[in-house]
Parts: sequence; structure tokens; C-alpha cells
Amino acid sequence: MAAAKSNYGGLSSPENNDDDWLEVSDHKSSTSSLGALELQNEDSSDSYETDSDDGEEEEYELTSGRRATHFSVVGWRPKELFRCCILSIAIVLAIVFAPKREPLFRSSHPPPGAVGVGHSSYDTIQSTRLEEYDARLTLYRHRATGAEFLAYVPDAVTANFKGGSGEDDYDPKPDKVFGVAFRTKPESSTGVPHILEHSVLCGSKKYPSRDPFAHLLKGSLQTFLNAMTYPDRTVYPVASRNRADFRNLMDVYLDAVFHPRAVTDEGWWVLRQEGWRYDVSDADDDSDRILQDETTTTTVATKAGTTTLKTTTGTTTKATTTTTTTSPQAKERPTNTRAKFEYKGVVFSEMKGAYSDPEDYLDRITQELLFPDSPYHYDSGGDPSIIPTLTREEFVGFYEKYYHPTNARLFIAGDEIDVYHALSKADGYMTPFGYNPASRKDSLIPYQQRSFKKPLSERRPFAVAAGEDEEGSEGFMLCITWLLNTQPLSPMMELAWIVLDSLLLGKASSPLTKTLEDSGLGEELIGGGMDNELLQSTFAIGMKGIKTREDVNALEDLIMDTLHSLDTDGFNEDMIASSMNTIEFQLREGGGGLRGMEIFLGALTKWNYDLNPADAIVYESALKDLKDEISRTGSNLFQQMIRDFLITNNHRVVLELFPSTTLEADQLKNEDIQISRATTRMSDDEYNQVIEENVKLKELQETEETPEVIATNPHLSISDIDKESIEYPISVEEDAFKSGVKLITHSVASSSILYVTFGLDISMLTYEDIVMLPSLVALFNEAGTHDLSDAEFRNNIGMVTGGVSASLEIMSVKPDGWDDDAKVSPGVNMLTMIFIEGKCTSDKADELFSIFYSVLTEINIDDSKSILQNSLKSSLSSTKSSVASRGHSYANRRIRGRYSVRDWIDEKMYGVSSLQDKAAILAEIEADWTSFARRLEDMRKTILNGNRNGMLLDMTGDASVLDQAMESAKDFLLNMLPIDLGNPAPPTPDFRATDHPWIEAAREEMVQSNPIKNEGIVVSTQVAYVGEGGQLYEPGEEVSGSTSVVSHYLTTGYMWDVIRAKNGAYGAYSSFSHSDGVETMYTYRDPNLPDTTLSLFHEAADSILNDVSSETLTRKDNAAITTAVIGTIGDLDGSAPSASGAGWIALSRYLRGESSVARQKWRNQIINTNSGDFVDFAKRMKSWKNPSQAIVASESAFAEMKDRAGVELSLFKLQ
Ligand SMILES: [Zn+2]
Repeated sequence: MAAAKSNYGGLSSPENNDDDWLEVSDHKSSTSSLGALELQNEDSSDSYETDSDDGEEEEYELTSGRRATHFSVVGWRPKELFRCCILSIAIVLAIVFAPKREPLFRSSHPPPGAVGVGHSSYDTIQSTRLEEYDARLTLYRHRATGAEFLAYVPDAVTANFKGGSGEDDYDPKPDKVFGVAFRTKPESSTGVPHILEHSVLCGSKKYPSRDPFAHLLKGSLQTFLNAMTYPDRTVYPVASRNRADFRNLMDVYLDAVFHPRAVTDEGWWVLRQEGWRYDVSDADDDSDRILQDETTTTTVATKAGTTTLKTTTGTTTKATTTTTTTSPQAKERPTNTRAKFEYKGVVFSEMKGAYSDPEDYLDRITQELLFPDSPYHYDSGGDPSIIPTLTREEFVGFYEKYYHPTNARLFIAGDEIDVYHALSKADGYMTPFGYNPASRKDSLIPYQQRSFKKPLSERRPFAVAAGEDEEGSEGFMLCITWLLNTQPLSPMMELAWIVLDSLLLGKASSPLTKTLEDSGLGEELIGGGMDNELLQSTFAIGMKGIKTREDVNALEDLIMDTLHSLDTDGFNEDMIASSMNTIEFQLREGGGGLRGMEIFLGALTKWNYDLNPADAIVYESALKDLKDEISRTGSNLFQQMIRDFLITNNHRVVLELFPSTTLEADQLKNEDIQISRATTRMSDDEYNQVIEENVKLKELQETEETPEVIATNPHLSISDIDKESIEYPISVEEDAFKSGVKLITHSVASSSILYVTFGLDISMLTYEDIVMLPSLVALFNEAGTHDLSDAEFRNNIGMVTGGVSASLEIMSVKPDGWDDDAKVSPGVNMLTMIFIEGKCTSDKADELFSIFYSVLTEINIDDSKSILQNSLKSSLSSTKSSVASRGHSYANRRIRGRYSVRDWIDEKMYGVSSLQDKAAILAEIEADWTSFARRLEDMRKTILNGNRNGMLLDMTGDASVLDQAMESAKDFLLNMLPIDLGNPAPPTPDFRATDHPWIEAAREEMVQSNPIKNEGIVVSTQVAYVGEGGQLYEPGEEVSGSTSVVSHYLTTGYMWDVIRAKNGAYGAYSSFSHSDGVETMYTYRDPNLPDTTLSLFHEAADSILNDVSSETLTRKDNAAITTAVIGTIGDLDGSAPSASGAGWIALSRYLRGESSVARQKWRNQIINTNSGDFVDFAKRMKSWKNPSQAIVASESAFAEMKDRAGVELSLFKLQ
């Protein structure tokens, strides 16, 4: 559970880290910058590889290159959204003490940030100096419409808008952020807010192309481009570090929300594409295959009927690819039979995926039950069984009601020039709408009262795969959710709740977490604790993987009993001090991501309810009040809260989900019945209209847009991009202080925080031992020492640091002499290390190092059996569920793990293969803990006894912070590292020059356990994740940066247009890794049968070749190649990293052996990409060597695939 509270800042790369430079990215650092104690191995491992999908964002899905991903492109995961912000933080806090107001417009040349920018069309409501952020926050009201506009202007603009000392030479361009939010109150579960969120981005008055959003993904320097639907608001944020680009993004979004085509007659099709439609079923229909075999032109001609389709080659290709959705006219059915329909639509598929994720489903049901009288009762995302009741009238009506400037909240983070420009731009858009107070009044969210006389208990089924034992591996789930407040909490109480949440659940050793995990009643905690993103906060806790109904009841009792005993016993001082310090550290540090985005999304947690947005952002005074309160009453405050908000609060839902093997079939049957009823009821005219709309929609999707329309999309030109690659500060000292250890430092503005990583080589372990490594890392992260219990030791860590965590790093490194080149690695050079990472304020460096020392040498392995069992169980359980909810990342990893040894190790440690190993380890622990513990102890000794030249110490911070920390570092290296543990270890080899000792055994195991073959991974889900990949380049071959342009072009072009827009998969990606030469393509929440998607993959190369031969893909003017180049550069550079992010990027580049020369060369190759590069890549794709598939889907999907297409895969069943 803990890890679920991921930070918002982890906006790192999504899928398509097509190039090795950027994979490094913030991900890792952002993970470590937060909740460090909860760092999961998976997260850190993912940070590396190219392909990587990494733990976090995929969940939200991707689309855009890196950053956009944190929230689904246009995505929807309410729970995640909340989590994202909770810890990332500050934000969520509210403080009500009146902000200092200052007079406006004092002098003609105010120092930056001294007063807000003025604008004649706006009244300035308040202008607040945010001491916590060294910034100014100004709230405006638009005179003509009443729209509110919030501007965040930092004094000194450095990385992520944090005020810096200016002493550092590294000064990245900060991200500018703009956003529009509407308060959208759902009145049903048709998902209309969510469908609108997707739809307004499908063309507008000034940007009439079908998908300006996709165009921006293709060719913008955006560092965030997405939209999110919350239960009560719809938010459209963008970010870029480039002013021209930023202005483009802003204008497209303003035009989209105020003049979308979707609500005009001409945009009739948008709801059909994005929301739901009847589509002619392609299942059970032989004529499909016949048509697929026919030539494309026939299909087009037949389909076109009376319409003329353009017959460019590009069109032809695309038509071919869609034959799967053969139009009924093409089949010339007898008029008396009606075609079989099925539901399609982007949001429809997306929500089907969401509803087949049990935890997600549980959240939704809880929300419905907990808020019987509130709009939160409805699912703003859309219930797949209700989405198809959405009418066009409701869709347009909802837009007209709520998408009015009077109901809008706009935001900008940037400098004063940006603010003035944004105010003017928005003024132009909004003024014509006039004032409409109703839109604001009607959207008000009323409070749900605490109305339950007794807790509401409910049982509901959730779908598990047929064939699975009813009470089989999935088990039951139980979650108790409380409605906390029925009026705004005071700022101090809001903060107190964040602290209480951390006290109860923040660490593995926290009392509620520990009691539940120790009970063995379930496998993993769920619920996630407190949610405070909406009008009313909730607190939820439960478990999944509960074996019997008796255990379900026992768990409910245990949760309540634990709360009762905490009410009686309270928390000790250290626990409170530790949680307080942890929260305070997080507040001061920020989430580590886009600061402006944090401010915007954070402000909305108050502003959306007409409260002061500044209250959600400032925290100093609440912090002071809470500290005072704690010094007066100690633990009493928290005991009282447990009593009042939890124990005596009957407004809670106790929800049990039980597994059903028939539910999925029932749901599909109901869907069929629903459809056939609707079909039967249709008059001939209505039926024909559906058919006609289908044909028209497909024609439209297939028709190439005219050059005139394409030209309306905003674009940059090559001159707008930076030609120089971005370098981050690094300084390396071999044999620091004559300790034998390498010291690496990064001087970066860090607000007086010191970030430290200590790395130890682990290559001396045997390959057989590596399955034990996650256990060792887990103990480093969770166990106590010989002197202190786990709770005591972890509290100590919390009291003096911002977190300390261990992780495993397995990265491929370049062979010696390849520093300046990008070549496919021979796959034998790897760096394998354990990293201990930590952060603290600059005055606490000594304490931080002594904690490192304790983690490495004093952890009590012998007495930590149950800690390890809990940790492994929970990791096993969460891996299992994420295979079903993020199957694309597992499919991708599985495929890559067939071609590269490093990737195999990644698959073995974190992929579907890991399930078996983890289960085996658990059994081993159970059977013979003593021997297991001894083995771990031996491993630890071996690692610590490694040669000093295999260790490194990396520090990031302000120059002054680094200076200050140097003495502590010296002391650590000279006096605290263990010595004399045995015979002196031989020097660690240079693995850039030598094969890594694990390679041979790993390769053997790879060939045995994950051979190159087509494979189906069986899970319980109504959507599929289809992946295919293979070797495009051979080891030793030079790879050009242009490959990342082609990959970007595929993902944002063909994959987006054909697989997402036309075939309804929520995401579709191409991912190429230059370090192993492997290309993969995969889909996310794909409603199609896998063989359909595979055949679309197989058309991808031809689509490129056709685009080249039709001259769509040229460098002329600002044509497609230029667009793709700009988009690729945007991906490459990403957001301005946080301090720890910058340090991490520099460190990993260094460790990999990548020189700045190589980076510049790569960048030049990107910029100079030409059509020949596309042809080369496409030809390679057409002659893929040994491609193979990994498909995550339900058993029935595989059966259907076999029936329909005769394809039989070897099936992999999860343990
Ligand atoms: Zn969505």
C-alpha cells in the first residue's frame, strides 16, 4: 500500500523511451525523492531500460512521450490522481490564515514577483507572497465573465521554479504551465464528463484537424500534455520549457475547451469515436477474412459507396489496416438480416479496463455507496454498462452547462511576460461568452452528510478468470472506507490528518500496517489511507488476497480492534516526531516534478469549491499550529481523531468483494442482450442510420486531411529547438580521501537539501543468489537493527532524514571505447549494484551517513522473518494484480527478456517470471528460515567485503551544501565502511572491459525459461495487452538518433491513428532500444482480439514506406519529418529535472559510459533525420529477425483467437 502513494513528481518517461539517453530521466530520482522508505525494487529497476515502461506512469498510460503520462492521456484513474497529489504534496494542505495582501501596482518597475501583473480586463482579487516557495500567487477575476485566473510567478526562476541561490552554473529552462479547469458535476454514470474531456481535444474552430491533441504529441516540445477527469472537475493542463511552444499549446487548449467541434453538428462523429458507438462486430464472420485478403482498393471502393475516398497510397494503407472493421455494405448482407453490433469507443474501452481491475472497481463501488446523496455517487469516468445510454443531447447539454468561462478556473506558472500574455489570450476567448452565473451555481458540489445510522456492509462479486478456483488465488477483498468531514477542516486539522495517515500506515512498521500484515489474513493492504483531493476527505483501509470468508470477518474486527487500541494507547513521541519530520520534509522539498503543475492541481483542491486557492498551497502556519498543538497535547490529538473520525463514525462502508468465475461471462452476455434488444427495437431507419454513421466514421478516419487543414495545426520550426544537448553538472574524484571509493558530486540548486547515494558492486555474488537480492533489499528497507526494533529504527530514520532506501541497479554499460558511439551492445557488459539512497537537510549529513552505516551493517536479519514474509507477500500480490491492469508493460518486458540478457534479468526480477521465484522464496523462508537467513547474512558480508573500487558515493546539492557535507562524507568513507571482514577482496573488474560474471548463466536460463516464441499470458480482464517485438539491429551495429524519430513517429502517428483512434485501444506504442537493438510494439487496454491488433502491427512498416513514397514524410517546409524531429527533441529533453533528478541523470550517464560527444551526435542525428532513415527503419521492421509475441489477455480471448484465426499460443499462467 505504501508504495501506492506515489509521488506526482514521478512524471517520468512513459513507454517510448526510444532512446537510451532519456530513459534515465527523473523517474528514479523522483521515486527516491519521496517516500523513500517505500521504494519498491520495481520502480528503480525500471528507471533504466529503454523500453521500460515503468512502474508508475504506465498505469496512467501514455500517449505522449514522457511527461504527459502521469495522467492518462486523457485518462482517468481517480484513485491514482488522488494519490499522486497527496504526498507530492504541499499542495494538499490548506491553511486558512489570511494571506498577506499587498497593494497592487506600486511602482512602474517592481522587482519581479513583488506584485502581481495587472491587466485591464481583470480585477485582481488578491496577491499573496508565498514565503514557502519564494513566489507570488495572484488571483484575478475576469470582468466580462467572472472566470477566475490564478498566476504563480517565482522570484528567481531556476529548476522547477524553486528559488535558488544562483551560485550554481547549471540553470535549466523552467517549465511554464498553463491550465483550464471546469467544475463538472456528474448527474449520472454515463461518463459524460470523461467523454467530453477526450472529445474537446478532437478539433476546434481554429484548429479543425481531427486530432490537434495528437498533432501536439507528434511535434511539440511539450513537457506535459494531458487532461484529467476527477469526480467533480475536468482539468486541461499543458507545460513546455519553450515560450513559442507554450503559447501554441495554450492557444490550442483554449480553443479546444471554448470552441470544440465535438458539440457542433459537424462534429457528430466525435462522441461516436471517443465515447461509444455500435460497431459492426468483426467476430464470427468469415467474410471479414475474405475481405482482408482482397486488395485494399477493393475494400475502399466498396466501402466508399457513393463517397469518394482519396486514393493516395497513404490512404490505401490505412484502409487496409481497417479491414477488420469491414463495413456491412461491403459484405452486401441480405436486407432482412441485421449485422451483429458490438460497442466500441475509446472511453468505453478505457473504462472496461478500469472496471476489470478489482481494486479500481472496489474504489468505484465504495464511492457510490459512501456518497448516496452526493454527485460523487456517480462515476464521472463512466460505468461501461451505462456509457451506452449516453445520448448526444446529454453530451451537448453537459458541455453547454458547465464549459462556460463563468465556471472556469485558469492557471499559469511562468514569468510576468507569460502571465500578461495568458491573461490577454484568455480574455479574447472568454469575453464573447458573457456572464453566466448559473453555470457556476449549478456545478456546486453539496456536502454528503454523515447519515448512516450504522456502518453499511456490502458484498459484491468481481470477475476472475473462468477456470480459476472460485476461492482460488485471487481470494476475497475487504475495505473499510470512512467519510471524514462534512465541512471544511481547519488547515491544522488537514495537516494533522496527513500526519495521522503517516502514523497509521506510512511505513511497514507503522502500527496499522504492521498489525494487518502480521495477521496473515490477506496478502496485501489496499485502500491507501486518506484521500483529500475532493470536497470531502475519506480514509480507507483493507486487504486483498483474503483466503476465506471467516478471514474477511476477522479482518474487519482486527481493523476496528487496532483502532480501538490505538485510541487507548496512543503513539509514542518518536513515532510522532518521525512522521512530523517526514511530512515537513516532503512539504519543503516538493514533489520533485513540475512545480507549476503541483501548484495548479493542488490549488484546485480548495479553489474548485470556491475556497481560497492559496490555502491549499501554503503550509507554514498550519505546521506551526500543529507543532504547538502536539507539544501541548502530545498523542491526544491523534487519539481524539481516531475516536471522532473513525471509531464512532458510522458513516463508513465495509465492502467485501468476492471472486466470481461467471461474472465476466454474465457481463458480456448482458452486454450482448443490451445490444440485441437495442438492435431489435431499432426501426429500419434507425438501423440504417447506425450503419451509415459507421461507414462515415470509418471513411472520415481514413481520409487524409487536406494540406490546408494540416497547416492549421500550430507548429514550431527547427530553429525553435536547442541544438545543444543538455548536460548536467558532474565532478568525479577517484579514490576520494584515499578511501579507495569514488566520489561523484553534482552541484545543483537544491533548497539546502543534500541527496546522497552510496553504491556497492554485487557482481561477486553468484547468479543463483540473485533471486535472493529482493529479499536483502527489502530488509535494508524495512527491518530493525540489533539494538532497535524495526519501528524504532525506522522512526529514527524519519526523525532526521527525508527518507533512506535501498534499491537494486542493473544497467547495461557501453563496452570500453564506445563512449562516443551509439552501438548495439554485445550484451555482456553490465553494472550490478545495490544503492542506498537518502536525503536530509544540510545540517543532518552526519546522521544520514550513520543511518547508511546502520542499514549496511547492523540490520538484524535473523529476527526479521515476518517482516520479509509480509514484504514478499505484498509484492507478489501487487505484481499479480498489475499484470492484469498494466499488462502492456509485462508483455513488453517479457518480449525484451528474450533478446537481451540484461533484459532477461529485469524480467526475472520484476516481470511475470518473478512470480514463480517469489513464491518459491516464500516457501523456502517458511520451510527453513535459519538457513535462508544465513544465506542472506553471507550475501551481505560478501557485498560489504567487496573491493572499495567497486563502491561509489554520489552527492547532489547546492555547492554550499556539498561543501558542508564533505567532512561527513570523509568520515563515512574512512571510518564507517566495514573493513577486515575477511580476506581482502580482489579488485572489482571494469565491466565495460570485461564480461559480467552472471552473463553465461543468465543467458542459459533465458534460453530455457523465456525462449523466443509466441506466448499468451492468461489473466482475468476484459481487455487485452498485445505485444510483439524483435531484433532490428545486430550487436555491434551503429544506431542513429534518427531511430528515435521513427519510433516517435510510429507511436504518435500510425499507432495513435489506427490502433487507438480507429480500433479503440486506449494506448498503442512503438518502443526501440538502441542498446540492444530491439523494437517492440504493444497496446494498452485493447478491446480487439489480439490477432486483429497483430495484423495492424504488421502494417506499420508499410505505412511508413507509403508515407515516404506519397511524400507525406518529407523535410519540406514544416512537414512530417520536421514535426517528428521536434517532438523527439521534446521527449529527449523532458521537463526541467528536480535537483535529485539532475544528479541522477548525470550519474547514470557517467556509469553507462556515455560521453557528451555521443549525446551531441545523437541529437544531431535526430535533427538531421531524413526520409531515408525512415525507409531504413521500416525495411528492418519488415525483415524482423525472430520476432515474437507476448499477449496478456483472458483465457476466453485466447480461445476465441484460436477458433477464429487458428492461432494457438503457448499459454503462461500466473502462479
Ligand atoms: Zn480517458
